[in-house]
Amino acid sequence: MVATNIGVGQMSDTKMWGSEEFQGLGYEFDPQFLFDDEQKELQEKIIALSASTLRENAVESDQGFVFPRKNFEALASLGVLGLTVPKELGGMGQNHVTMAMVCEAVARYGCPSTAMCLTMHYGAVAAAALRHHDNDTLRDILSRVDKDVMIGTLSYSDPETGSHFWYPVSSNAEKTENGWKVLKKASWCTSGGFADWYIMQTTSPDFNGDYSDLSVFLCMADEVKAEPAKWDGMGLRGNQSGTLLVDNLEIPADRMVGPRGDGAASNDESVDPFFLINSSCAWNGISMAMIDLAKQHTTRKKHVDVGLRVCDYPTIQDYVGEAIISTNASRMFVYSMARALDDVTNNCDWSIHKDIAALPRSELLPWMWQIKFQAAKNVHEVSDKMLHACGGSAYKASLGMERLLRDGKAGWVMGPTNEVLRQFVGKYALLGFDSLDYWNQAINERAIDNEVKKMDAGQKKALAERLMSEAGAEAAE
Ligand SMILES: Cc1cc2nc3c(=O)[nH]c(=O)nc-3n(C[C@H](O)[C@H](O)[C@H](O)COP(=O)(O)OP(=O)(O)OC[C@H]3O[C@@H](n4cnc5c(N)ncnc54)[C@H](O)[C@@H]3O)c2cc1C
Repeated sequence: MVATNIGVGQMSDTKMWGSEEFQGLGYEFDPQFLFDDEQKELQEKIIALSASTLRENAVESDQGFVFPRKNFEALASLGVLGLTVPKELGGMGQNHVTMAMVCEAVARYGCPSTAMCLTMHYGAVAAAALRHHDNDTLRDILSRVDKDVMIGTLSYSDPETGSHFWYPVSSNAEKTENGWKVLKKASWCTSGGFADWYIMQTTSPDFNGDYSDLSVFLCMADEVKAEPAKWDGMGLRGNQSGTLLVDNLEIPADRMVGPRGDGAASNDESVDPFFLINSSCAWNGISMAMIDLAKQHTTRKKHVDVGLRVCDYPTIQDYVGEAIISTNASRMFVYSMARALDDVTNNCDWSIHKDIAALPRSELLPWMWQIKFQAAKNVHEVSDKMLHACGGSAYKASLGMERLLRDGKAGWVMGPTNEVLRQFVGKYALLGFDSLDYWNQAINERAIDNEVKKMDAGQKKALAERLMSEAGAEAAE
C-alpha cells in the first residue's frame, strides 16, 4: 500500500491506534483493495478520531445511557455528517461505498451507538436529498449538517404494528390552509429527543383506507415530544431509541418531503436501502471489533501450567479463523451491494432524482434485505464465539466484549427483523414478489376455500348472511 500523510500522524500500511500500533487485526484482513486513496485517507481519519475521542465516549454512552452528541461533533469536524450531501450544498458528495466504510469503521473502532445514530442520520439525509431539488427548507438543512451539527433521524415504527414499520396505523395527516396537520405516534426512534430534525411517515392527507398511500414529513426538534428518560435498551444504550409524539402539529406546506403519496417510493429508494446497508455495516463493524479484542486478549493471556498463551490452542485459532471468514463474507456482500448502488446512481448523484420517477435503488431492495439478514446473523454468532474464545475474562465488562455483545443483539430484532427478512426472500422466491403483500391487501383464496370446506351447510349459510349484510352496509355508505 502506498503511504499517505493524512495529517493525523499515520503514514503507512501499519494500522495505528493513536501513537501505537493497533492491537487488533491489521489492514491485511480488511478489503482495502475496494477503496481509493481518498477513501483510505478518510478511513484512517475515522480510526484516529476513534482512538482520540469516539471509543472513550462509547464507554460513557453505555454506562450512563448518554446520547453521543460529542461523537457527532467530532464526526462533523471531519465533514462526514454531510458525506452523501451534494457538493453544491457543501457536502462531500461521496458514494455508497464510502458511506458503508465510514459506518463500519465508526462501529468497529469507535462507538456502535454512534454508528446506529449515524445510520439513521444517513437515512434521513437520503430521504431529504432524494426530494431536495424544489424544497429550500430541505436544502437549507442539508447545507448545515456539519456546520451546525444538525443530526437527523427516522421516525417510522408504529406502536400498533411493531416491526412492520411501513404500516403507520396510529399516524395521519390532514391538509390545512397553509400546509399540513400531522399526528405521528412512534414506538421507537433512534436519537429521539436528541436529533435536530426528524423524517417521519404517516398515511397521506385524504387517506381512504389504502395503507400503501403514505406521505413523508419533516419535523424539527422543538416540534416533537420524546421521553428519553425512559430509554433502557439492553445495548446500543447511547442510541436513545425511545417513543416519539408529534401531536396534531400544524406545519407549513414545504415540510412535506416529496409529493403527496411519495411514502412507498421514498422507503424503497432512500430509507430502506440506506438503513439496510449502514446498519449491516454497524453489525459487521461490531463483529470485527469482537475479533480485534479476541486477538488482543488471547495473545496476551498465558497459562503457566502448560506454558501456552490462549491463542496457542488450535481451538481458539479455529474460532478466530472462522469468525474472520464469515465476517469478511458478510463485509464483501455488503460492499458489493454498496458498489451496485453506486453503479445504478452514478455514484450517489442525487441530481438523477430531479426525475421523480427515477428509482434505481429500489430494484436492488431484495438484495439489501439479504445483506442485513446475513450481517445481523453473523454478529450474533461471532460475538458468542469470541466470548467463548476469551473465556470468563470476556464475561467481565472491563474487557469491552460484554458491551459489544449487547450492542450486536439489536441487529436481529431491528425491523425489518431477521424473521421477516428471511420470509420475504423465501416467499418472493417461491410465490412471487406480489405475495409479500406489505399492506395486507391481497386475498388468500386458498385459505378462504380451505376454511369454508370445513363448514357444514348451516355454518356456510350463517357466514353468507353475515357477509351479505356487511356488503349491504358498505354499499350504503
Ligand atoms: C436499538 C433499536 C433502535 C431502533 N431505532 C428505530 C428508529 O430509529 N426508527 C424506527 O422507526 N424504529 C426503530 N427501531 C424499531 C425497530 O425497527 C422495530 O420496529 C422494533 O425493534 C420492533 O420491536 P417489536 O417488539 O415491536 O417487535 P414485533 O414486531 O412485535 O416482533 C416480535 C416477533 O415477531 C416476529 N415477526 C413480526 N412479524 C412477523 C412476520 N410477518 N412473520 C414472522 N415473524 C414475525 C419478529 O421477527 C419478532 O421475532 C429500533 C429498534 C431498536 C432495537
